Amino acid sequence: MMTDMRAQPGIMDIALYQGGASRIEGQADPLKLSSNENPLGASPKVAEAVAAAALSLHRYPPTDHAALRTAIAEVHGLDADRIICGVGSDEILTLLAMAFAGPGDEVLYTEHGFGLYRIFALSAGATPVVAPERERRIDVDLLLRHVTPATRLIYIANPANPTGTALDMAELTRLADALPEQCLLVLDGAYAEFFAGYDGGAALVTARANVAMTRTFSKLYGLGGLRVGWGYASQHVIDVLNRIRGPFNMSSVALAGAEAAMRDRGFVEICLRENAEQRARLIGGLRQLGIACDDSEANFVLACFADEGEALAADAHLKSAGILVRLVKGYGFPEALRITVGRAEDVTRVLDALASFRQAA
Ligand SMILES: *Cc1c(COP(=O)(O)O)cnc(C)c1O
Repeated sequence: MMTDMRAQPGIMDIALYQGGASRIEGQADPLKLSSNENPLGASPKVAEAVAAAALSLHRYPPTDHAALRTAIAEVHGLDADRIICGVGSDEILTLLAMAFAGPGDEVLYTEHGFGLYRIFALSAGATPVVAPERERRIDVDLLLRHVTPATRLIYIANPANPTGTALDMAELTRLADALPEQCLLVLDGAYAEFFAGYDGGAALVTARANVAMTRTFSKLYGLGGLRVGWGYASQHVIDVLNRIRGPFNMSSVALAGAEAAMRDRGFVEICLRENAEQRARLIGGLRQLGIACDDSEANFVLACFADEGEALAADAHLKSAGILVRLVKGYGFPEALRITVGRAEDVTRVLDALASFRQAA
């Protein structure tokens, strides 16, 4: 044991992140609905762009990500100078913690918030602080009650994972307005596109210095394996982050693939329409089976059972039918399963399996 190699304070308090399961013992090709991936895959334009980029892998990629930032800015109507690209939105979220929080500072998030927020806070040496939610929803007043003079960063996923619930613009604005100047509100928009009419908080970011937004290519764009995300914030925040990010953080393959995905709006339209349709079917079907769930603004649904025992039995039954979903005990929901919205035939398979689970019970 190299006990002299002592890690920085906080780091040994980090438990390794558990991703969604991808295998079932004895099942060759399971239906994976455990990681909120796009069931339609990625735009075919991505494979073309990636193949073309693969012909010049001996060259270093650009450090300024100008082409990808321009594509994002054009599609979203944003200022390209205030966009930063990262290795998944994870990297942007980490850089924010590293840049703006340290020992003695507090990083605030909510009870059922994304598991990585605690890791980002501890990695930066800061103190994680958890505010309660109300009925699986972020409550602005409860959150504000946990803001102290030491709070430097607040992470909120909107829509939230694993609940799928979302704050509307009025609530987000009320939150941003109430925060002290030294506190940056980070809107994690991993599922923003699925929330009809929501801009991910872009207008809030444009209008004020204390709000930042992160977005990803991992969910709607079907590129979890490529690792591309981006952030949008004030010029000052972007300038800070650019000083600490690796100059070659994005590979040329990732840059080319993400740009092609961003520019293929036709494919995005198809995915959004399909998700809205199948999400409604999944929610309706679950409720018909007596399985409670909130309305979801994302690409997954939190199915709530009577208790942990029933949730585990349902999970085992789904597994025996070759279906992988996500256990969310670690998010404070031992009685629930998070189910990614799949294609029509996937949703049918899930509902059929849960119907036979109900009959067997
Ligand atoms: C999936 C997800 C992300 C995205 O992570 P990437 O690093 O962009 O793949 C961020 N936040 C939440 C809440 C997520 O569920």
